[in-house]
Amino acid sequence: MAAPDPVADVIVVGGGSSGCVVASRLSANPDRTVLLIEAGVGSGGPGPLGLLPIGPGSDIVSRYPVELRPGRQATIARGRVLGGSGAVNGGYFIRGTPSDFASWPVAWSYSEVLPYFRKLETDLSGDRRWHGVDGPMPVTRIGRDRMHPVSAAFLEACATEGFGYSADLNDPNAEGAGPVPLNASAGRRISTASAYLEPILDRPNLLVRTGVVARRVEFDGVRAVGVEAEIAGVRRLLRARQVVLCGGAIGTAHLLMHSGIGSAQHLSDLGLPVIADRPGVGRDFGDHPEVTLEYRPHRGVPRDPHTAVLEAVLEADGIEIRPYTAPFSEIIPGADDTAARVGVALMRPDSRGQLTLRSSDPRDPPVVRYRYLASAADRAAMRAGLDLARGLLASAAFGRVAEVADGARSSIGTFENLGTSLHLSGTCRMGSESDHGAVVDERCRVIGVDAVTVADTSVMPAVTSRGPHATAVMIAERVSALIDGDTGPARGAPGSGGV
Ligand SMILES: Cc1cc2nc3c(=O)[nH]c(=O)nc-3n(C[C@H](O)[C@H](O)[C@H](O)COP(=O)(O)OP(=O)(O)OC[C@H]3O[C@@H](n4cnc5c(N)ncnc54)[C@H](O)[C@@H]3O)c2cc1C
Repeated sequence: MAAPDPVADVIVVGGGSSGCVVASRLSANPDRTVLLIEAGVGSGGPGPLGLLPIGPGSDIVSRYPVELRPGRQATIARGRVLGGSGAVNGGYFIRGTPSDFASWPVAWSYSEVLPYFRKLETDLSGDRRWHGVDGPMPVTRIGRDRMHPVSAAFLEACATEGFGYSADLNDPNAEGAGPVPLNASAGRRISTASAYLEPILDRPNLLVRTGVVARRVEFDGVRAVGVEAEIAGVRRLLRARQVVLCGGAIGTAHLLMHSGIGSAQHLSDLGLPVIADRPGVGRDFGDHPEVTLEYRPHRGVPRDPHTAVLEAVLEADGIEIRPYTAPFSEIIPGADDTAARVGVALMRPDSRGQLTLRSSDPRDPPVVRYRYLASAADRAAMRAGLDLARGLLASAAFGRVAEVADGARSSIGTFENLGTSLHLSGTCRMGSESDHGAVVDERCRVIGVDAVTVADTSVMPAVTSRGPHATAVMIAERVSALIDGDTGPARGAPGSGGV
């Protein structure tokens, strides 16, 4: 009996930062039908940049229990909404650096990825050398004269301590301190749902369905033929010629393992079938550990979120210092931390984490172990970063707006306030087919099977030494272009298939 018609030529799983881009770019070809499925809800439109809707009452995030270090548990949030984590994040939109891409396959060197960084943005700095001027994502910066007093004092402190100033931290030669590039317009965070998806929702060859959770990729032998999904409690098989996974670094690794792609030993231990033995799935992911120091703003210095949660940063030798403009209790609805904080993040950590399955039930969250600061080098680098931040906080410039809280003055309890930057990346890293630890090839096709591509932060060989959001969008742009070059459009009638 002939197989039923596919519901679309391509199913894109996950409508997050990357998935909205892929759905938009692939459906630009009217001869290709695209179905985008997203576990969460539809986008609520651009939110205020000074608020992160990730608190305990938020219904647009997934929460995962994680272990930051042995004995140190936490719960992390990821966006579960069109726009994904990019719809709930800090709006800090910075490119990976040339040296980050030097460790990626050559097809992803800085000169190869730069055209896609340009393509995705309308950068309002006016610079044409490095920037795009007609892409979907608006990129802005807050002028020093309009900054929160804490941000302005921080930049002054960096200057007096001898650090250079970069008006554009997305310039490949940038170093030192400067205003953060923001994916924002008129003080509101512009996610890829707003920038890429909403303008093209009327395309007849594009179908977007929210509240649809992919449970696994369905295979005929090693060829993907669709996705088994859960829709309002009912399981359905959605058939397609090609599947593009954009579930994010947690969601995509989780889904691949439940689809039979991962460590054969781990899958067999859980009684799951093995389609391709790829032990790299979930292994050696990266993120940026952050330790915060408390400061006390002087009377009269505002304590509510300013234009952005973070307006300025210092990049110094693998350390990023982040003077948050308000306590987390003001930034995250429902958060109870009322202290004002400066974050110290390790941007090139060598300690790597691991994500494994908890059970054979795809509804169970995975086990996520960060192994933060496991190496002596990481602990030493974090101590050096904290000393650097203490020096800036103790400067005369910063002293005009705030004083250092007692607990932040000394190195006693050095890693007490350890947290995560929420930049988890690299659970399905790209590499050559002969590299057994690689999960996708240089075109981001899953190795060992056919018709499955990954386009999100999970493919990063190593987390970039800057926030990953802009790089997530770039990856989605580039993989979409590779898919176009790969397959060309296949003809197929659009159909909802009851989705
Ligand atoms: C609170 C927070 C603040 C952050 N701040 C910054 C910042 O300021 N700057 C920065 O550079 N980075 C920041 N990040 C990180 C950045 O936002 C992410 O790295 C990036 O958005 C990830 O993009 P992605 O496409 O890989 O995944 P996501 O954007 O997370 O998208 C994955 C999508 O897939 C959906 N999905 C997952 N599994 C399934 C499934 N089985 N079926 C259907 N749908 C599924 C999810 O619901 C989600 O919508 C932050 C992250 C968070 C959570």
